[in-house]
Amino acid sequence: MNIATRSAAPDTTGLDLEAFSRGLFIGGHWREGQGSRIAVVDPSTEAVIAHIANASVADAAAAVEAAAQAAAGWRATPPRKRSEILRRCFELMTERAAMLAKLISLENGKALRDARGEVAYAAEFFRWNAEEAVRISGEFGLAPAGANHIIVDYEPIGICVLITPWNFPAAMATRKIAPALAAGCTVVLKPATETPLTAFALAAIYQEAGVPDGVVNVVTTSTPGPVSSAMMADPRVRKLSFTGSTGVGRTLLAEASKSVLSCSMELGGNAPLVVFDDADLDTAIEGAMVAKMRNAGEACTAANRLYVQAGIYEKFVAALTKRMQGLAVGPGTDPATECGPMITAKAADKIDRLVADAVSRGAKVLCGGKKPSGTGFFYPPTVLTDVPSDAEMAHEEIFGPVAPLTRFETEDEVVRQANDTEYGLAAYIFTRDIGRGLRVSRRIEAGMIALNRGLVSDPAAPFGGVKQSGLGREGGSHGVLEFTEPKYVAVTL
Ligand code: NAD
Repeated sequence: MNIATRSAAPDTTGLDLEAFSRGLFIGGHWREGQGSRIAVVDPSTEAVIAHIANASVADAAAAVEAAAQAAAGWRATPPRKRSEILRRCFELMTERAAMLAKLISLENGKALRDARGEVAYAAEFFRWNAEEAVRISGEFGLAPAGANHIIVDYEPIGICVLITPWNFPAAMATRKIAPALAAGCTVVLKPATETPLTAFALAAIYQEAGVPDGVVNVVTTSTPGPVSSAMMADPRVRKLSFTGSTGVGRTLLAEASKSVLSCSMELGGNAPLVVFDDADLDTAIEGAMVAKMRNAGEACTAANRLYVQAGIYEKFVAALTKRMQGLAVGPGTDPATECGPMITAKAADKIDRLVADAVSRGAKVLCGGKKPSGTGFFYPPTVLTDVPSDAEMAHEEIFGPVAPLTRFETEDEVVRQANDTEYGLAAYIFTRDIGRGLRVSRRIEAGMIALNRGLVSDPAAPFGGVKQSGLGREGGSHGVLEFTEPKYVAVTL
């Protein structure tokens, strides 16, 4: 399939879209929002597929109230019981993986194979945190002076507001909800309005798995600023966990300062991918395709700048271009699709602008490079060479299927270029010299490094960035602790 043969009508077979757009999910009930409903669009066809409820500030207050009502009961629920409910969420998500993947493909546009991967990843946060829920241990020890003992207990932090983006509608929510519930917290989730149906489908699954009413609440809104400010201003809310752009993250950090709220921030990225001369070419190409093209490039971890050493540059460029040109572009829900549309027309326009800017500064287009006309927010897989360091795309997230390549000569030169960004989320390194791989891993300023592979995300590992890519970590044993506060008791026995 190519872009020219894409279909005109959304493929909704097997999806109960009415059930996923019943209303806001507050206190275990579906209810209408006070604002007028919001249209949800299929990015492959531009057709409206549902209208979702629109929360006002008063609706958001009701969601916080429901989370507050449920807080004491959930906190007092034994960790084993919480663990079993989380495990059941994992099982139900796994049983319904095909339906959830199709729903994600429909509202987000991503290729079905990427959506299946996302559902497995998202469900895994429940399995992992079911295991963590019964392993949140405290500390007990003698104070250095010997006069007393020190007890440290990890208590649930309180009510949490969770705000998530559209690019991983399931995983960005479960990466927060599962550890929050494991720690004993209740939550209000505000998903992105572009991809709300997945969040509502998952809410129904949590309820079926035995999550008590009010423990998880979901509100969608066309006014995220006032709605999130109102929730954050409620003194019972003690945590904001946000995933999204660095720009919105900065605004929310300022807002959170008013009530000195604990903040976890998973923000934007500008990942460098570095290929040294001694890299295995097949491994590097395979890794680059995953790092660049998973989710059609709409990932915070996406390789945004590809630096290739002079000795392997020509071969790498030829092999990558061949792979990129061969990708099947089409509607997300088509099983043959490898690269779906972008989330909105605005997103596709931004990519077009970034490519035009790079070309105006001397970059060469080897494939793609032009937004097609017609229905759907498509952008073709694109390879650019000789992208100069002053091109806008070297400093901004492309968030699309564009691979900008730059040749380098020395390790020092590429480390300097890799670190020339305000971001520090992920980086990719390809070399057969493990000493160099580890040395460069330490020199690159990023929270996560993938060495000879194209994927870093793992529910068992701490995910997060340095510099302006964020604060805190999700996943691993760190993830659950973000939803706790250490309580210290000094005790004389
Ligand atoms: P975004 O920042 O525009 O929106 C994220 C969420 O914030 C959405 O729910 C949105 O409705 C909400 N929001 C927007 N303005 C708000 C405001 N003023 N107050 C409160 N909430 C507001 O980001 P996006 O376009 O949805 O997602 C893409 C961005 O997310 C990229 O920058 C990407 O790198 C980042 N991201 C980061 C990670 C990570 O783990 N670090 C993961 C996925 C995406």
